[in-house]
Amino acid sequence: MKHINIAIDGPGGAGKSTISKEVARKLGIIYVDTGALYRTIGYYARENGLSVEDVKVTEKISPLLPSITIEIKYIDGAQHVILNGEDLGDKIRQPDISMYASAVSSVPAVRAFLLETQKELARKNSVIMDGRDIGTVILPDADVKIFLTASSEARATRRYNELVAKGVEVKYEDVLSEMNARDHADSTRAAAPLKAADDAIYFDNSEYDFQGSVDHILNIIEERTGVK
Ligand code: C5P
Repeated sequence: MKHINIAIDGPGGAGKSTISKEVARKLGIIYVDTGALYRTIGYYARENGLSVEDVKVTEKISPLLPSITIEIKYIDGAQHVILNGEDLGDKIRQPDISMYASAVSSVPAVRAFLLETQKELARKNSVIMDGRDIGTVILPDADVKIFLTASSEARATRRYNELVAKGVEVKYEDVLSEMNARDHADSTRAAAPLKAADDAIYFDNSEYDFQGSVDHILNIIEERTGVK
C-alpha cells in the first residue's frame, strides 16, 4: 500500500480518537494520538508538584523537559506512551490531566520538544494522526486533512456518557463547562492554536453516529488517495 498521512484536528469530544482508531484499523495503518503526548508532559509536571498555573510558565516547565524521555509503542494496535521507561496506561486519562495537558501545550518549548517525535512517526509509517495542530503545523503536507467538530452540547454529552460508562461520577454541567474552558484556551493560545488548516475538509458530525462518521471519513480518504 502507498504511504499516506491523514491529519485529523478538532476540539475535544468530537470523537477524533475513537473514530480515527477505527479508520486506522480498517485501513491497516497506525493511529497516533498526539494528545497523549501533551497529557504525558502534564502528568509528569503534576508528579513533580507543579500546579496547572505553574505549567503555563516557560521558566517552570522547561527545566523539567531534559529529564523526560517519551517513547510510543503499539501493542495490538493500541498506542502506549512510555514515560522514562514506565507505561502510563490510563493514568493520563484522569480528568485533571486534561487541564494540565491543555496548560502545558500552550508553552512553545513543550510543543517544540514533541515536534520531532510526531513527524518521525508519520515519516516512517502510514498514519492517521489526531490533535489540534496536525494539519497546520505537524503534517502540513498530509494527503488528507479533516477538521472534525460537533456542537458543544453534542460533544459534552458524548464525553459525559463516556465517563459515566467508566464509572466516573460527574455532572453534565461540569463536563460542559470544562470542555468550553479547554476549547477556549486551545483556540486562543498564541502557539499553534486549534484551527482548521486552509485546505482541511470541515466535518461537523453532531448528527452522525460513530459508524456514520467512520464511513464518511473512509469515503473522503478513498476519494482523495484511492486508498480503501
Ligand atoms: O486530545 P486530548 O484531549 O487528549 O488533548 C489534550 C490537550 O492536549 C488538548 O486540550 C490540547 O490542549 C493539547 N493538544 C495540543 N496539540 C495536539 C494535541 C493535543 O495542544 N496536537
